[in-house]
Amino acid sequence: MPIIQNSELRRALAERVRYYNELGIYDFYQRERPEPFAASPGEAEQTLFVSQTELREEMSPRKAAVVVKNAGEDVVQVLTSRPEQAVSDPIAALKLIREDLGDCTRCKLHKQGRKQIVFGVGNPRAELMFVGEGPGADEDAQGEPFVGRAGQLLNNMIKAMGLRREEIYIANVVKCRPPGNRTPERDECETCSPFLMRQIAVIKPKVIVALGAVSAKNLLAINAPMSELRGRFYDFMPSGARSSDSSWQGSKLAVTYHPAFLLRDPRQKGEAWKDLQMVMAYLGLKPPKKEESEPSS
Ligand code: SF4
Repeated sequence: MPIIQNSELRRALAERVRYYNELGIYDFYQRERPEPFAASPGEAEQTLFVSQTELREEMSPRKAAVVVKNAGEDVVQVLTSRPEQAVSDPIAALKLIREDLGDCTRCKLHKQGRKQIVFGVGNPRAELMFVGEGPGADEDAQGEPFVGRAGQLLNNMIKAMGLRREEIYIANVVKCRPPGNRTPERDECETCSPFLMRQIAVIKPKVIVALGAVSAKNLLAINAPMSELRGRFYDFMPSGARSSDSSWQGSKLAVTYHPAFLLRDPRQKGEAWKDLQMVMAYLGLKPPKKEESEPSS
């Protein structure tokens, strides 16, 4: 494979990849270069390919970059190894992601009053995963997602599905509490969500339930009202997982109301229950006999 000869360019490229890694971004795609700019196929390749050895020389071993060509899609895909990909045990893999996150200061939420990072909780092999938008005051204090009043309602929803909280995995789009429980801003979501994507790629749930519009819009990259987002399954593959794991074809993603919204407007519980019943049908779950009605608050 041809090598970039310009050492400054090589260093700059490695630096840029390292920067994106720090943000939790590991996969990059380069548009095909228009033919007129390539004097020869060799020249074109020389600008597009960097040997694995070359980039590894420039970068730390843990974040070494590999550049491969996906012939089918005719794009150049830059893959950097994620530490968790080196282990098969999801518990260890999640631990590595948490270590990689560290005492994160990647977005401004780190300096806006958070007590601690709320990473996620539950079964690392869960078939079902709930994703909210961000920690509130109770979650910030306890370091666990969905532990306040909204968490109690989520627990009831989980129970009504015939499951226990320990059987599922719960996380948020952002891992630090936005001040005053405001909605997390776009840059905060974009900076933090790659870590959520990595958690999903490790857990490989059959179904993800996005709780609320912020979660749904961030996971699906669709800007639509809840009325349009709900009531169907989406095929979901976290960024980076497709290229690294051929054994998993992704999750089904459903959207329902955030429990905090249901506390404010209990009339919508019936609608949320319909969403959960759709998930239950897909997972082959039956509600416990006494819980066949919609979840209580
Ligand atoms: S919200 Fe996420 S990206 Fe921002 S500081 Fe917290 S852990 Fe880091």
